[in-house]
Amino acid sequence: MASRVCLVHYHEIGLKGKNRARFERILMDNLKAALAAFSVAAINRISGHILVSFSQAGQAEEACALIARVPGVARVSLAFHTGRVADEYCDAAVHALTEFGPFESFKVHARRSNTDYELSSLDLNRQVGEVLCAAFPEKRVQMHGPDAIVYVLVVQGSVYVYARSMRGVGGLPQGSAGKVMTLLSSGIDSPVATWMMARRGAVPVPVHFSGRPQTPDTSEYLVQDIVAALAPEVQVGRLYVVPFGDVQREIAIACPSGLRVIMYRRIMYAVTERLGRIEGAKAIVTGESLGQVASQTLENIMAVNEVVDLPVFRPLIGSDKQEIIERAEQIGTYEISTQTAPDCCTLFMPRRPETHARLAEVHEAWELIDHEGMIEGLVAAAEYVDFTAPTYRPPRKIRARHEALAPRAADPLPEAPAN
Ligand code: ATP
Ligand code: MG
Repeated sequence: MASRVCLVHYHEIGLKGKNRARFERILMDNLKAALAAFSVAAINRISGHILVSFSQAGQAEEACALIARVPGVARVSLAFHTGRVADEYCDAAVHALTEFGPFESFKVHARRSNTDYELSSLDLNRQVGEVLCAAFPEKRVQMHGPDAIVYVLVVQGSVYVYARSMRGVGGLPQGSAGKVMTLLSSGIDSPVATWMMARRGAVPVPVHFSGRPQTPDTSEYLVQDIVAALAPEVQVGRLYVVPFGDVQREIAIACPSGLRVIMYRRIMYAVTERLGRIEGAKAIVTGESLGQVASQTLENIMAVNEVVDLPVFRPLIGSDKQEIIERAEQIGTYEISTQTAPDCCTLFMPRRPETHARLAEVHEAWELIDHEGMIEGLVAAAEYVDFTAPTYRPPRKIRARHEALAPRAADPLPEAPAN
């Protein structure tokens, strides 16, 4: 009898030559990591697809939904795997169409990856089509735009038959681009921005600025929950946490109140860039969306951006809040992000933040603080939490410098009160 497998489809556009083999290898590794909780028997490449088979019955059905969320997956189909025996694959075609769901019209789409099978694609279409017409006499065959398509794929000694398939998140496999530092708050936007960069193949290394010691460390646990929620399909290997409260206090005392937020953010960007240099990251990512809050006007973005040389990407700059919320719900971070926690964003906030900062005034305020000393001090005080993530490689070259960033003791999360 046929076994069930997941057939993973990816976009081949732009994936020619060497690039394609590399892409496939990374995607296979990522699928393996994402499916660690399943009993995966094998992950193989077959004729433009990746095939995932399981050693326990029922797992392919469950795994499909997870596979669809892995960056680089354009589509995943729940297929029957049979031998090259007509009775077996025709029977699988009947099952595939039965489980497809409601439909009125259908067609068969057969393909052979090599020509050593005596039946041509046309012969296969006819053979399987006849069996399906007999099994579903009340349904009609329709060549253009049918409700259901039964795919029959002959690859060497095997036949894969499927009708049910779901759309994947698309993009490129995580790790096919380099590292990016992502400024991760526990808000709604930055987890989405982090996810979007991971979907384009980047390995995100988040940096969270907490209000500690001026605020409790609740936000630090929320960002850890966010990292955990993105897994296993999106992997984050290391989260940096920078206790920012004392420096914020110094800035609040020394600078004109309207410019405080800009000063905080200049320091945050600069610290992130330094950590990025240690990590070998090639960009900084934020969850900013134009005009959403005072610090996200064009003038203020410019006033902050000028302190760094690394490119700053803002994948949400043109997004509407509702779109961002929908994506946050889809990737599983929304609920965590709506829990309130004091972090550096809520600390020492001016009553009236400047919305259109003038650069000359920003530069004047910048000189009122020992910004270089603050940046150095915060980089030295940065802590990190590690997670299991095969795509992440900790920095090698500057290991000595890196080891100075003491790993944060993993305190257990407080138990949630019982209702
Ligand atoms: P978010 O929902 O991502 O918190 P926001 O609407 O609250 O965004 P801001 O507070 O202005 O907007 O922050 C803009 C961006 O700056 C965030 O998307 C994030 O990338 C970064 N950021 C803000 N606060 C922090 C923080 N405490 N630690 C790290 N990055 C932060
Ligand atoms: Mg925020």
